[in-house]
Amino acid sequence: MKINENFLKIESSYLFSNIAKKVKAYSAANPEKEIIRLGIGDVTRPLAPACIEAMHKAVDEMANAETFQGYPPEYGQDFLLDAILENDYKARGIDLEKTEIFVSDGAKSDCGNIGDIFSLDNRVAVCDPVYPVYVDTNVMMGRAGDKTENGWSNIVYMPCTAENHFLPAIPENHVDIIYLCFPNNPTGMTATRAELQKWVDYANREGAVILFDSAYEAFITEENVPHSIYELDGAKQCAIEFRSFSKTAGFTGVRCGYTVVPHDLKFNGTELNAMWARRQATKFNGVSYITQCAAAACYTPEGKQQIRDIIAYYQKNAKTIYDGLKACGFTVYGAKNSPYVWLKTPDNMKSWDFFDLLLEKIQVVGTPGEGFGPSGEGYFRLTAFGSAENTEKAVARIKDYFGK
Ligand SMILES: *Cc1c(COP(=O)(O)O)cnc(C)c1O
Repeated sequence: MKINENFLKIESSYLFSNIAKKVKAYSAANPEKEIIRLGIGDVTRPLAPACIEAMHKAVDEMANAETFQGYPPEYGQDFLLDAILENDYKARGIDLEKTEIFVSDGAKSDCGNIGDIFSLDNRVAVCDPVYPVYVDTNVMMGRAGDKTENGWSNIVYMPCTAENHFLPAIPENHVDIIYLCFPNNPTGMTATRAELQKWVDYANREGAVILFDSAYEAFITEENVPHSIYELDGAKQCAIEFRSFSKTAGFTGVRCGYTVVPHDLKFNGTELNAMWARRQATKFNGVSYITQCAAAACYTPEGKQQIRDIIAYYQKNAKTIYDGLKACGFTVYGAKNSPYVWLKTPDNMKSWDFFDLLLEKIQVVGTPGEGFGPSGEGYFRLTAFGSAENTEKAVARIKDYFGK
């Protein structure tokens, strides 16, 4: 018996456990201090009432032989697929078929599992800094190569820094699989339609596939920023899109998302759609009826309004943080189309040193940019997912300490 030794190559997730350790130690030594957490990317507002109502109703249906539901359809309930097609795509001028949508338990699993349908020989490109799931799942499968001083040997890192306005440059050499996430976690920055079109053109020219994570689509406020990669010409021939109800509708504790694999996406005559369908039917258990009823309720008129209000609440927090930091002289990015504020640390401070400073001096917890990749060094992430009260309190402390 041999284990998958790729797992030995990977460090245990050090970023958030390291943060938790530091916060715990500080809190034990300073029990009287009130710590404000603006670090983790989890939502805090309760679910929209429309979703709660739909779930209660679904539970009652389960109590009745006439309306009871057993195993869910493998790729999602028709009523949810219809709502997705109508609202997320048709309304934006995108025609997709029901069989191109795969409802799932969230974008994290799908972004990770999608690697099952690709050969280990492919060359993978990721942004740096990056959402760790893209890299770690490739390491686990053995596609990332070996760990070197410059990251994994078979992974192409595309630096995203202030110099390129946090937009990766198109690779000079061929890559096969490209992970893109816009609006981006962690930088909070995004790509315009014209900028993203260049990636679609590159992928079609090179015969590459784009794995497009649009988990933060609901936070987009600017007109020239695409909500879906399929708004771009030729994207159905080269891109898979991941969507999530987590950040959009506060489903981080409910778990639901979906993945779009267009029928036009073919390599050597094989539809990736058929491969993903086969993969999901075998390895994925489907999403509970109750959860899918809650997801469908996001698309009702009441649901839409309630969710818009929740997003607006977080957007206001993002603006509070952004404006507050700016007023203190910080160089700040993100926030406009995102719940994330990405700031340059003062005086080129290392991002972990800045973390310690904020914790010790004003008891505000954020996330050091270095934890998302080497190009995140010198940057720091604050999130808008806290309560308005805590966000304002944190910003007041920052102003007191750093304000001129
Ligand atoms: C939060 C997040 C997701 C959402 O994942 P779920 O599994 O649907 O909760 C996906 N991608 C990125 C980049 C995220 O930050």
